[in-house]
Order: sequence, then C-alpha cells, then structure tokens
Amino acid sequence: MANGLHNRLVRINLSTNQIKKEKLPENIVETFMGGKGLGAFLLTQELDPGIDPLGSENKIIVSTGPLQGTVVPICGRYCIVTKSPLTGLFLDSHAGGFVGPELKFAGYDALIIEGIAKSPCFISIRDDDIQINDAQDLKGLTTLEKEMAFRKRIHEPKARIMSIGPAGENKVKFACITSDSFRNTGRGGIGAVFGSKNLLGIAIKGNKKDIPVFDLEKLKNKAMDLRKRASKGKEVDHWIYRVGTPALFNISSERDQLPVRNFQYGTLAEEASSLGEEAIQNYSTKKRPCYKCVIQCAHVFGDNFSFKDEENHIAAVPEYETLGLIGSSCAVKYETVVEANYLLNKYGLDSISTGSTIAFFMECSEKGLVPPEFQEEQIVFGDDQGLLELITKIAYKQGVGKILAEGTKRVSELFGQGSEKFAIHVKGLEMAAWDPRGRLALGLSYATAAAGASHLRGWPTSMKLPKDELVSPEIVETLVSEQDLKLIKDSLIICHFTHSIIPALNLQDVQTLYTEATGGLKDIREIAQSIWSITRYFNMREFKLQQNTAGVHDTLPYRILYEALPTGIAEESKAFQSIEDFQQGLKFLYEMRKCNHDGDLNDQEVARIENLVGI
Ligand code: SF4
Repeated sequence: MANGLHNRLVRINLSTNQIKKEKLPENIVETFMGGKGLGAFLLTQELDPGIDPLGSENKIIVSTGPLQGTVVPICGRYCIVTKSPLTGLFLDSHAGGFVGPELKFAGYDALIIEGIAKSPCFISIRDDDIQINDAQDLKGLTTLEKEMAFRKRIHEPKARIMSIGPAGENKVKFACITSDSFRNTGRGGIGAVFGSKNLLGIAIKGNKKDIPVFDLEKLKNKAMDLRKRASKGKEVDHWIYRVGTPALFNISSERDQLPVRNFQYGTLAEEASSLGEEAIQNYSTKKRPCYKCVIQCAHVFGDNFSFKDEENHIAAVPEYETLGLIGSSCAVKYETVVEANYLLNKYGLDSISTGSTIAFFMECSEKGLVPPEFQEEQIVFGDDQGLLELITKIAYKQGVGKILAEGTKRVSELFGQGSEKFAIHVKGLEMAAWDPRGRLALGLSYATAAAGASHLRGWPTSMKLPKDELVSPEIVETLVSEQDLKLIKDSLIICHFTHSIIPALNLQDVQTLYTEATGGLKDIREIAQSIWSITRYFNMREFKLQQNTAGVHDTLPYRILYEALPTGIAEESKAFQSIEDFQQGLKFLYEMRKCNHDGDLNDQEVARIENLVGI
C-alpha cells in the first residue's frame, strides 16, 4: 500500500565500506511514523546502552517523513538522531532547507551510518549509486568550502549537502551539521559524531520525484487548504512572514523571557531595539526559504554584505535564538552577532550552546571564578572582540577554547566554586533563549525533554507567569498535547512554524495529513505517546547504568529554579512558585505520560515499548 514512504533505508558501514539497502520494518508508519519516530525506533533497536557517543558503536540515523516530497508544502526539514556526546543521551536534531526532500527523491526514508572510516571521507548518494569517497584533502575546510568541494568532486552542481566544519572535525561537543550554507541541525553535538567517524559530510542528488501516497486527491485538497491558510497569515502581516524569528526578540524581551547576561535578567526593556527587528532595517535582506515553503521565514543578507570573504558565501540573518544567546546573553552589539553567526556557520557550531557557554564563562570571569591557568583569556560581558576570538578558539580547541568546547556543564564542574548554580543547562544541553521564569509551566517542558533544554519540545498554552498561578493538571495537559503535536510534526516532517498559518495547524490537521498520506488509521496521539516513551526508554537504559532513575535528571538549572528575576513583568518570578509546585507539575506529567512517580516509565509501558521495538 502506498504510504508516503519508499519503505527502504540504506545502511552504510564506514569501517567495512559495506553499503546495504534494506526494507523498513513492516508497519513502521503505524507505530513510529517516520522522521523522529523512525529514527528513535532504529537507534533504540540498534544501540547498546553505555556505548561511547564518539566511539565506533554509535550510529547516525538521518530520517525523512511521509509528507516530504509530496504535494504538501512546508515540509523541507529533516531529522538526525544519535546518542549525544554533549548529554550522553538520546538526541534528535532538525534542520530546514533541501536535504530532506532530496534524500527522499533519491529513494530512501532513512540512512544508518555506522563504524569509523580509516581516513576522512564523504558519502555521495545519487539514487542507487552510493559511494564512500576519499576526502583527506578536504580536511580543515569550512562547511561552505566542503559543500562546494563535494559538488565539484561528484560533478553534481545541484547536489544537496550536509557538512561539518573544523568544529566537527575537532569533536567540539556542540558542533553541528550545516546544510544549504546556513541550515543547521544544531543541538547536542551531531557534528562531533560525524567528526568521530571521519565523516566530513554527505552529498545527495535524487531523481525519484514521484512519492506514492495513500490518497493523492484528498492530500491535494489538504495541501490547498494549508496554502490558503498560509496566505491568511501573510495577509495579516504575521511576524514570521514579515521578518522571521528576529521579531521574537522584542516579544521575548517584553515577556521577560530573554536571556540577558547569562539569564541574570529577562528583559532589555527599551534597549531591545538594538538587537531586535529594528536592527535589521539597516541592511538589505532577501528571503531564502526551504523547499516548497509558503511561509518563507528565513532571510539572508544582500549581495553587498561585508563579511563575504568566501566565494558564494551566504551570510544568514541571525535567528532569534542566536540574537538571544550570543547577543543579549553575552551583551554584544548587533554587528558582532552578525559576524559571530557567520563564524558559527563557517565552523559548524551550535549558536545556542556556543553563546550560552561563553556567557557562562563571562560571568565566571566577572565573579573571579576562572582558574589561574585561564585567567589571561578571561572576557567580560560586552567584549565584542573577545567573543569573536573565543568562537574561533572553541572551534579549533585552542587555549581556554579546549575547555569551553566541552559545554557549560563540564566547564562548571571543572571551575567549581559554586559556578554550577549559574550553569544554564538541562541534562548537559544548554537552555534555549526562552526563560521559563516568564511563562507558567514551560520549565516542565525543558526538565522532561529527552534531549535536554530544547525550546522545540512543546509549550504549555497559558501565557500566565509562574508567580501568578500554581501548576494544575489542566495546564500540564496543554503541555502534553503540544508535545504530541510537535512529536507528530517532527515525525511526519512538517515545519513547526505552521503554528502561524491561520488557523494554526492542529492535531486534527496532522491526523488528516497522516491518514491521507499513509493510509494509517491509528490515533496520532497514541503514536505520539509511543515516540515520547521510546525516547524516555532510551534514556532510562543509560540512567540505570548510573543507578539512577529518569526523574532524578528531570530538573532545571539552579538559577532558574531558585533565583527570581529582578526586573520586568516577571519580577519576583521563578520557574515555579516553590520546589513543591515543580514536583507537583512533574507528578501530573508523569501520570499523563505513563510513568511511575520516580519518572521511569511504568512496567506496562516498558513492556509495550519493548514489544514494539522487538527487544
Ligand atoms: S517556515 Fe521557515 S523554517 Fe519552516 S519550512 Fe518555511 S522557510 Fe523553512
């Protein structure tokens, strides 16, 4: 039955050079759908707990979803799943652009990459022709230089490319994969896993553009409906269409959710215009959307941009997360954020973790907590030049950059002296640029996400402040429902910004898309629960080796949990009114998510997941 998938994957072993095409497991669409769900299923099935994320046993799963490459718009993203070197836990990271659809057009729903190549290489996929190519001479190039070199080497000027930069080669724990010049699967150190395998990137060119779906006519109608709803968003000049995520800077500052000086404050008040939407007005920009996108949020600077020191280089307009974590959190100027963003894309570094780790280092410098051997390299908040130099040092692991390349958690453990209290991460993943002290129960999302403190794992719908209300089952139910919607979007593969079409894409829409594309009749919330549970199951196996339960790790940074914001509308607000309030919220969530009071899945759910995975 046509189900939006090719029902096949390709397994590439870099140690043995074996390339094997395999069928996807029967009924995978009914149980784990595609994208994140498919990747989580494969990784859990294939990895033993306790393996070294940077060793030969770790695997990289690149996955696509049933909607990609079909008539449905706004499906340009793709998913990579692996065991994170930053957290030691399950990791899924996502990026837009063209790589996902191209992989689908090449005839595969997923790639499994395993082993370690003897010397630097890149993989080329041209429909059935898959090769592991020597790339010894390309080592040390930036992401964009590699992108151009891969295309040239395989004589495919239109190939879509994923590549690592020097940061990935040097195994920086928060190195990312860059594709289409500035799209990053940013979180958790996937670039370091590529680097550990001597894999410099992947080039893809596909020609199988006819993706078979269950009910093409109905899916065409649904696609038309989405396009019309996207037009309405454009008509009302919604910020995502007008300028993209930089507009969120002012919104976040007004809500006291902005990271300012390593989350010591939540707002820049009147000064927000220096880094927000207004700051872009001084530059010429143009849209650079993902494949078949009718929202088109992404922008790059015009041709005359001054950092254009590489042939064909594209300087991307910094997204909100970069403006927050590099800009306001490190207290640097807009021009510096733009230059930093350019360096981050060139080196292949996650802007969230890089900015957060540097802001932490700046606070340590100001408080006199930097150990003597690194004191010459100290920089304080507002040191624009120092920040740019530090980004380069991190990418190449030079001087103190070698320590910072390990991420905030490990740096704080090394520096000690109470610095752990302002190390802003969950499970080792640096927190996104949305302070949960400005939004009721958002902290529960960060605390319980398998990957750590990501902003893309569902938000509760209440706009209230934590200081104004205790967490209730009703609030937590809205978070669980939003988590489910995000899990399904990441598994069908449809962009999260479909929340800005009018009316917003909802659970009923994704149920319809799922059925019309795949023929599946299952309730998508059941599938979402399975995907949530399998990622928790993956992490539980890791925690058991440390003789811990999952709940022990479901926590928030000390500053976020115990220190109230000092100014703004959330003045006096912590992430929760008390520790008891936080624990009560966790209890509600655990009950809804089939967990015991200790945060581990209950026995029945463990048995159900093990049965689905075949363990
Ligand atoms: S809304 Fe933005 S991120 Fe989403 S698919 Fe479109 S261009 Fe890409």
